[in-house]
Amino acid sequence: MSSYIADNLKEISQKIQAGAEKSGRNTSDIVLIAVTKTVDEDKINEAIEHGVTDIGENKPQEIVRKFDNIIGNVRWHLIGSLQTNKVKYIIDKVDLIHSLDREGLAKEIDKRAKAAGKIMDCLVQINISNEDTKHGLDESEVEDFIRTVSSSCPNIRIRGLMAMAPFVEDPEESRIYFKKIKEISLKIENLNIQGVYMDYLSMGMSNDYEIALQEGSNMVRIGTAIFGNRNYAV
Ligand SMILES: *Cc1c(COP(=O)(O)O)cnc(C)c1O
Repeated sequence: MSSYIADNLKEISQKIQAGAEKSGRNTSDIVLIAVTKTVDEDKINEAIEHGVTDIGENKPQEIVRKFDNIIGNVRWHLIGSLQTNKVKYIIDKVDLIHSLDREGLAKEIDKRAKAAGKIMDCLVQINISNEDTKHGLDESEVEDFIRTVSSSCPNIRIRGLMAMAPFVEDPEESRIYFKKIKEISLKIENLNIQGVYMDYLSMGMSNDYEIALQEGSNMVRIGTAIFGNRNYAV
């Protein structure tokens, strides 16, 4: 049985190990999120059989559609921008929301989490490249935002930061952005804000995760390098 997915996962785990070692950590400190948007359930389940424990989707409706067809006990990550009116569909399904970036969204997550009887773990998304097209908070807004959420949203637990590097030809050019995010995370950690943790730094995708790991990422979101190019027509 040919399994390019198993081969890809093996290669990625070796690179994760190398990246972790380069930054003085163990492979077990790093979470690999298999990004499964547009990927069908059979392929996702195959990846799970080969050791994937965390899967990431960027559309609530895709999570809802696939949820019952996925085997085992995986953790679900909502990694894409989240519309406020979609929170209710995923609140009981996802383990970590990576795209918390505005107060209105925080209020809705808090309300729905409370109703569902859970504390929702979230990452605050930072817009490090200041590109208009990307979601996320500006560096200058992060501290105030986190203080506000911490004091007004008891059913949200902030667990760290998420960022996407700008699109560049050479991933080496993204290094400065990853460094910057790590700095912001240390700064927030040092503020010791009640109920705010900087456990996770979600950065690095198929083309740049090795560099992100070298700069302190401990959560990489990898799609194409596992499943191949996405077919959005499916
Ligand atoms: C699609 C996506 C990824 C994965 O991208 P690849 O280049 O396929 O690894 C990571 N993060 C987010 C937010 C995404 O939407």
